[in-house]
Amino acid sequence: MSLGLDDALERIDARIANRRMGTREKKGPPAHAAIAEGLGIRTVRGLLHHYPWRYIDSSQVGRIRDLKVGQHATVIATVRRVTRRLTRRRQSMVAVSLYDGSGYLELTFFNQPWTASLYKEGSEVAVSGVVQIYKGKLQMARQQVEVLRDETEQVHTARITPVHRATEGVSTRTIRDLVHRALDQLPRTPDPLPREVVAAENLVTYDWALRKIHFPESQGERHRAEERLKFDELFTLELGVAFRKHRVSRQEEGVAHRTDGPVVQRFVEALPFELTAGQRKASEAIAEAMERPHPMNLLLQGDVGSGKTVVALAAAMTAVDSGHQAAIMAPTEVLAAQHHRNVAALLDGIGRPLAAPEPARARATAQVAGQGSLMDPSADSEPEPEPDVDGAADRVTYALLTAAVTGKERQRVLEGIASGEVDLVVGTHALVQEGVAFRDLSLAVVDEQHRFGVHQRMALKGKGTAPDVLIMTATPIPRTLALTYYGDLDVAVLDELPAGRQPIQTTVVRTALERGAAYDVVRREVQAGRQAFVVCAAIDEGNRLQVKAAEQEAERLKTEVFPDLELEVLHGRMRPAEKGRRMEEFRAGLTHLLISTTVIEVGVDVPNATVMLVENAERFGLAQLHQLRGRIGRGEHPSHCFLFDESEAENEEARARLVAMAATTDGFALADEDLRLRGEGTLFDIRQSGMPDLQLARLDQDIELVKRARSRAFAVIDDDPELQRHPGLRSELETRFADSIDWLFHS
Ligand code: ADP
Ligand code: MG
Repeated sequence: MSLGLDDALERIDARIANRRMGTREKKGPPAHAAIAEGLGIRTVRGLLHHYPWRYIDSSQVGRIRDLKVGQHATVIATVRRVTRRLTRRRQSMVAVSLYDGSGYLELTFFNQPWTASLYKEGSEVAVSGVVQIYKGKLQMARQQVEVLRDETEQVHTARITPVHRATEGVSTRTIRDLVHRALDQLPRTPDPLPREVVAAENLVTYDWALRKIHFPESQGERHRAEERLKFDELFTLELGVAFRKHRVSRQEEGVAHRTDGPVVQRFVEALPFELTAGQRKASEAIAEAMERPHPMNLLLQGDVGSGKTVVALAAAMTAVDSGHQAAIMAPTEVLAAQHHRNVAALLDGIGRPLAAPEPARARATAQVAGQGSLMDPSADSEPEPEPDVDGAADRVTYALLTAAVTGKERQRVLEGIASGEVDLVVGTHALVQEGVAFRDLSLAVVDEQHRFGVHQRMALKGKGTAPDVLIMTATPIPRTLALTYYGDLDVAVLDELPAGRQPIQTTVVRTALERGAAYDVVRREVQAGRQAFVVCAAIDEGNRLQVKAAEQEAERLKTEVFPDLELEVLHGRMRPAEKGRRMEEFRAGLTHLLISTTVIEVGVDVPNATVMLVENAERFGLAQLHQLRGRIGRGEHPSHCFLFDESEAENEEARARLVAMAATTDGFALADEDLRLRGEGTLFDIRQSGMPDLQLARLDQDIELVKRARSRAFAVIDDDPELQRHPGLRSELETRFADSIDWLFHS
């Protein structure tokens, strides 16, 4: 009998069923059922992709006599005695005494009474861990134990024994048995990669790798196997990226925009500042992509404060010039309102807000804006749209759509979007809800895209017919990761800040004295006409984590520290209108201090604010701290950031983050540091990226392999975009991307 990779596990399981001697397992369900249940593995392929998570290298096994305290070691020894008792605290405890001919070692298990039955006198076990002495006995801290039992050859032949992750009802040993059987019966598996690639990359064959990853005979073999399998994972991933990129940018038909229209020209001429060289370069790249008759998929990466909004608006004007609609989606109400306000200010003279529904016509601007009376007064003084003598119909009509826009007003906005009267709409995820239908959306902008899931991004795109997509992010991710995560996008980088920006000085605060000094700076800045942010980590006191609540902190600051200043609180649980009002008051300079949660983290732009105080800064990640600090240093005055550190001295990672923050304001340098401190897993939410995850390879560590896999994958797609001549690869791709097939096939 021989198996194929897609055969069910049941067939091999039947053969080993009678060999499963483990006391607990014998009673349980058959191994294949337990594995399906616990690990989701149902096929031989699944089993063989369940790689060992570690190996016991018995050529490296030590003698108990030679163990040194504090050292990491592996020993193989025989069970001499098993005892059960209760500790003084009435916990159950099992002690297993091991002997290897040179000395004794004791294993202890608390609250796991069943372990007593797993260890039989005379059976062999392999133990690894860190050697320690407890009450005169040698033990292992963080012990990893595996019962080897009597029968087989595997460990005893001084080979490297794989340890597969086990699950309820199946031991690692049973899994190893299953893998062994499966490999025995498996005919040679054909190589999924093109022969040229395998040869050019000097890789071992797939079949060899699949066998050796489970049962390597040397560390060298293990590494060769690992390299091959990692390459395959990365290659398929990059193949997906290349496949999608090609499909979107070359095949799909999109809108060929005109990029020299009057609206965009007037927009740029009317700006109150000169565009930076970086902004001009980015705008040109975007214009070029929008001109092409295929959908644009472009990522605009620019550090906080680099001026991405203006670039996005110029792109929106290009869409309008060609007679289509544009949408800008932001992650928060505060940010959407800010963009809307920017639109009103920057389109002064060429734009007009969508007129409010009939009865409220006279107060059109303020109402549509949904921001009360604090709208830019220049927008308020716009002439009413009808009678159309001054070319009001030529004007760019804009509107805001968030959860705060309700009732008749919302109806009006929805109608305007559907009829095409609205040229540019700014909003939150409210834009992608059902009931929002565009007449002709040709540009979808997603701001702070890392705050959105891939589905929301795609939903916005879905509101048009193959519109151009511009996504913007201020969360720099290291180049190696960007290569893959954003590998299907074209990238434009805003690598300079507008001229005249003043530096931000960052100080880590630990003592009461230093805190006092920070408050002095706040006072001094306020006296000079500036403003300050205070950010707290949570909004209510009920939080077990003893974080300073924004409200409580506001109270304290108001009564004890700054009784003479105007303070306001802002947090995510407020009603949108209330949030908007408080934000506008701060923006207008009516409040000195804004005490908030991280709702102000992204995007908020108040150039007059020059101080940022972050309470419990140790609780924030680097990217978030960088975003928070990015709220200041946006105007013509020097700024100060104080990071209050309440971490324990031993929290080295937190300390390292704060040190990094104090050392640089360069977002890219911080991103690299973040990667070094935390690894890619936590840095980037892969589930949001729409890509399958990796098992063996790590994007942050296998950088060379990523580059190799990437260039091979792109070459294959260049040559055979639909993989017609590579049916095997095509089906690999579809298997690997099964959970994100939309991402793969649609833009
Ligand atoms: P971000 O890239 O963080 O989204 P914004 O688009 O909010 O940055 O811009 C930050 C600030 O810089 C805003 O106040 C904006 O008006 C201003 N700004 C943008 N471009 C320029 C420029 N070329 N010269 C001067 N100020 C600019
Ligand atoms: Mg922004």
